[in-house]
Amino acid sequence: MDKEIDNFCEECEKEYESVSQNLIIYGFKICESCRLSKNIFPI
Ligand SMILES: [Zn+2]
Repeated sequence: MDKEIDNFCEECEKEYESVSQNLIIYGFKICESCRLSKNIFPI
């Protein structure tokens, strides 16, 4: 399986280390600040 995950947020298009982590945890490719502004929490 080709594993090429970049860390660019789909919302603000900036690079953060938290983006790939949030993709795994929340299923959204977003940074921490965008996640908080959209109120996305794990179910
Ligand atoms: Zn963002």
